[in-house]
Amino acid sequence: MSQLHDRLLRLSQNLWWSWNDDLDVIFRAIDQRLWREVNHNPVAFLRLASEELLRSKEGDATILAQLLRAEKHLEDYVKSDKHWTSWNAPALASCPVAYFSFEFCIHESLPIYSGGLGVLAGDHLKACSDLGVPAYGVTLLYRQGYFHQQIDGEGKQSEVYNELDASTVPIEPVRDASGAIMTVTVPVAEDTLTAEIWRAHIGRCQLIMLNLSEGPLLDRVFRLYGGDKTTRILQEIALGVGGYRALRKLGVRPGVLHLNEGHCAFAALEAIAERMDRTGLTFAQAADDVAESTVFTTHTPVAAGHDFFDAGQALHYLRPLQARLGLSDHDLLALGRVNPQNPHEEFCMTVLALKLSRRANAVSSLHGIVSRRMWQTLWPERGATEVPIGHITNGAHVDTWLGTELSRMYSDCLGADWREHMCDPIRWRRIEQLDEFQLWNIKVILKQRLIDFVKRRTQARYTRLDQHGPLPQLRSDALTIGFARRFASYKRAMLFFQDLDRVKRLLTDPARPVQIIFAGKAHPADEPGKGLLRRLHELTQDPELRDRVVLLEDHDKNVSGHLLEGCDLWLNNPRRPLEACGTSGMKAVFNATLNCSTLDGWWDEAYDTKNGFAFGEGVVFADPAQQDQHDADALFEVLSQRVIPLYYARNGQSIPLEWLSMVKRALKTLAWRYNANRMVMDYTRHMYLPASGTQTAHMPF
Ligand SMILES: *Cc1c(COP(=O)(O)O)cnc(C)c1O
Repeated sequence: MSQLHDRLLRLSQNLWWSWNDDLDVIFRAIDQRLWREVNHNPVAFLRLASEELLRSKEGDATILAQLLRAEKHLEDYVKSDKHWTSWNAPALASCPVAYFSFEFCIHESLPIYSGGLGVLAGDHLKACSDLGVPAYGVTLLYRQGYFHQQIDGEGKQSEVYNELDASTVPIEPVRDASGAIMTVTVPVAEDTLTAEIWRAHIGRCQLIMLNLSEGPLLDRVFRLYGGDKTTRILQEIALGVGGYRALRKLGVRPGVLHLNEGHCAFAALEAIAERMDRTGLTFAQAADDVAESTVFTTHTPVAAGHDFFDAGQALHYLRPLQARLGLSDHDLLALGRVNPQNPHEEFCMTVLALKLSRRANAVSSLHGIVSRRMWQTLWPERGATEVPIGHITNGAHVDTWLGTELSRMYSDCLGADWREHMCDPIRWRRIEQLDEFQLWNIKVILKQRLIDFVKRRTQARYTRLDQHGPLPQLRSDALTIGFARRFASYKRAMLFFQDLDRVKRLLTDPARPVQIIFAGKAHPADEPGKGLLRRLHELTQDPELRDRVVLLEDHDKNVSGHLLEGCDLWLNNPRRPLEACGTSGMKAVFNATLNCSTLDGWWDEAYDTKNGFAFGEGVVFADPAQQDQHDADALFEVLSQRVIPLYYARNGQSIPLEWLSMVKRALKTLAWRYNANRMVMDYTRHMYLPASGTQTAHMPF
């Protein structure tokens, strides 16, 4: 192998490249087409690139210089201790955070995420890396991942699972001194699960992944959200118990245990059992200690988002853990029940997490209110406002969601060191000076790139279906709306089409054309969600709408990125108050794409009447049909009365100055706050430091 190959391979082993441009520049210079084909994945590129190709570039001075630069950058980044944590939370250095999550999105080549929850976890870990917070992500390595979505000629979704080829992603098994792959075992019921410990380097941090071995019961365990309740409880025991054991085996003693959503709450039980084994404490004492260092984040008010297990099933699979904890059936089940005396109540992972942690939070201000009300039954002696669940609003990891073109523009306008001042509202005021002509023309280029992407994707789908219809003709001068997220019912993907005639008039106005691009997967078991997809697909076949409404298959991080940068407007219309936070709209802000959303999740606290658009006024009706009609009318009104006129009001150079001034205002008022650095700083100050016991505990909420 060439020396160039080996040096690039070494660099590609740290997923820092998923939010840093250094490698992008090099691979683009080696073979731009191959680079695009492999979706900007350097490991896959090096697998496919011929030796001649790489040898032929060995003497290329530009590439070699860039390679040296990339090596130096990575080394400095990983080794430097001049980071935020050094100055603001030095005590954490000896108290690493174990961040457990059922899904993680780092890059689309590692499809172990389904939507916002995984994206948030990945963004959290990347921000921990950037800020120097010592953190280990812990999750399962789903070898068949989350499904790839195919939509057939009738609009029917099918789920395709591909076996992960570990040689095309930068993940590796962890080996002991003798070179053997390290494993953990997890007793469940009368069996034992075995898993290899794998790892990915995420900048300064690591993502620990358990690779489960084949075995009885483990039919669908290699898929994310692909199985039944049995699969799910096995996965959750594997993640919680196995994940905690893996950390201990690697010599990591977590100073803080962060449970990202209830799925991973068994980790706290394992931590308690381990503490009892090690110190001889009773369950009550050990549980108290563990709770003090455990942080729990709840992510949804939607019932289906909380795991419930039948009591018999929970007892069956938890037997070995129960023996170590020395708990009776009643006492074990009580940990997952609101009312321990009710034998019919199911075992709930959210209840378990709330009972085993001393610090809990929701993910937006509104979601905090909703969660306190939702879980008040656990604190019957308190009023809703005294329920101890605070909130830390989510944030998006900016370099993950920002393309090169816009990030260069920010560097020019805000100063080259703007990343170090990401959370400083004063710094973001400089965005006022952004040149409108430049901003607008970059957005037009990005929109054209999106349109080309849509063409390629649609062409590939037609080829697969052996279909020969014309490709949708999108226009780079039309107001372009994006809607991309999971097709969960409460997100109401079809609200836009509530009154079809009205929408047709709006979309096909020859003077002020509008087009809308959708993408999203329905959960494999979600028949109503699949129904929405089918209906949407039918609309894309309507001759009047075919060049105005597009549905992209197989929504993932890559599709999401193209849409966020290429669209003008980001539509979000969840049924209030069911969207706990929503993060795609934050990514839109950084991409100079305006938000148009119901007042739910983060938008309820972020909207200031001039930094984007809101509709529905936050009114909540008891009847969902009435709610939908009301919100659809309000959406139509804001589009026709405000959005479209503003977008098409042009100056002499055909630039929509007022629109761009709103874009700037969005950046100025929102960027400093709704980014992942601010989020991780909040977690560190308000949760991690107090939980680590390294400073006097204080609860700011
Ligand atoms: C950001 C993101 C989401 C979350 O979108 P919401 O609007 O918050 O639901 C889902 N899927 C992907 C691929 C994303 O990038």
